[in-house]
Amino acid sequence: MDAEIIAVGSELLLGQIANTNAQYLSKQLAELGVNVYYHTVVGDNAERLAQAIEVAEGRAELILFTGGLGPTKDDLTKETISRHLRADLIFDLEALQSIQLYFKRTGREMTENNKKQALVLEKSTILPNDHGMAPGMLYTSQSHAYMLLPGPPKEMQPMFAVYGVQALQKILKHNDKIQSRVLRFYGIGEALLETKIEDLLVKQSNPTIAPLASDGEVTLRITAKHLSSTEGAKMIQSVQDEILNRVGEYYYGMDETSLIEEAVKELKRRHFTVTSAESLTGGMFQQMLTSVPGASKVFKGGLVSYSNEVKAQVLGVSQSTIITEGVVSERCAIEMAEGAKTLFNSDYAVSFTGVAGPDDLEGHPVGTVFIGLAAPGKDTQAFPLQLGQSSREQIRLRSVKKGCSLLLAALRD
Ligand code: ATP
Repeated sequence: MDAEIIAVGSELLLGQIANTNAQYLSKQLAELGVNVYYHTVVGDNAERLAQAIEVAEGRAELILFTGGLGPTKDDLTKETISRHLRADLIFDLEALQSIQLYFKRTGREMTENNKKQALVLEKSTILPNDHGMAPGMLYTSQSHAYMLLPGPPKEMQPMFAVYGVQALQKILKHNDKIQSRVLRFYGIGEALLETKIEDLLVKQSNPTIAPLASDGEVTLRITAKHLSSTEGAKMIQSVQDEILNRVGEYYYGMDETSLIEEAVKELKRRHFTVTSAESLTGGMFQQMLTSVPGASKVFKGGLVSYSNEVKAQVLGVSQSTIITEGVVSERCAIEMAEGAKTLFNSDYAVSFTGVAGPDDLEGHPVGTVFIGLAAPGKDTQAFPLQLGQSSREQIRLRSVKKGCSLLLAALRD
């Protein structure tokens, strides 16, 4: 089935917001085996929206809309589609009750135009909105399916993931089901990884293998079409085994996870704590760590030690290290990690020192980084990195990812 996503909203055209809804939906649809060939963005204008629908009908069987389901005048998606399809809008009692309940729960006053949000296309499948008011819907004609979703991502995403996928699965043409698994790799470039599994990529048909690289990581999505989920799981597992035979040393996790999430899992499992002393990363490691739910079980606190003064006075980095080797040095990374481990009485400590740029520091070029790792029962080590002339943000992010991977490797050792 081929699909097109039409995002409705003048804010998108004015550059005030990015079309993350299209990105999210494309990713989800790919997993369902639906090909998305076009993303369209159209402003809050009925005429242009109607034109966009006509164009989309000429090149897609499934058209997904996001935005314009709200109560105000410029929210005109439903009305335009209703006119276009000659399908009446009718009040949905359940949606109306759910809107009334929403107002009661949030203690806000319901206005007459809020009722408009309970209008749905006749004969459509309603997609309940558990996080807002406007329900979504799936309407099918003889030749096309139209899915209407709200604009706010926090409403749209859970609606699609729960109710949208269910509704779509009923109309997907193939009897085959789609199952996919994402394998995550760190420490190997996309080109090298692809070379190592080139023969598998060339002969792939079912399951398919799709590589994707971003932020120093590579993922492989294995997708199988199957008649039963046990059969699908077996097909995926056999491809996974073959891949991991070749590049298993770089593999760190599966599906929705990250290096830091895996590290937190390991820390929890083994009842260890971690801390960090950060210079060039300015707290990015700790920010990433604390964004993982449950991080409080493994993280008591950490430090941003940006200046030499704080490195020396708070972490105890020796003056001789600062003077003779400099703060951008293995020795300094080691002393920072050890200082933090003692200060926060933790089992592990990761430290970051280096040159994020734009200027060189202590004669070291931009992108020179040292990561210290203090672990229980082992000598503290420092790992040099050379990240080249990347942007400040890239250097900081890549340093943090490397720190996470070193911590994870030490925990899994
Ligand atoms: P509401 O009931 O909030 O008016 P709606 O379904 O009418 O919802 P819009 O009014 O079009 O949706 O958009 C509401 C908000 O949702 C926007 O201000 C924006 O923050 C977000 N949004 C809309 N479309 C997108 C999109 N394509 N990508 C990301 N965010 C979006």
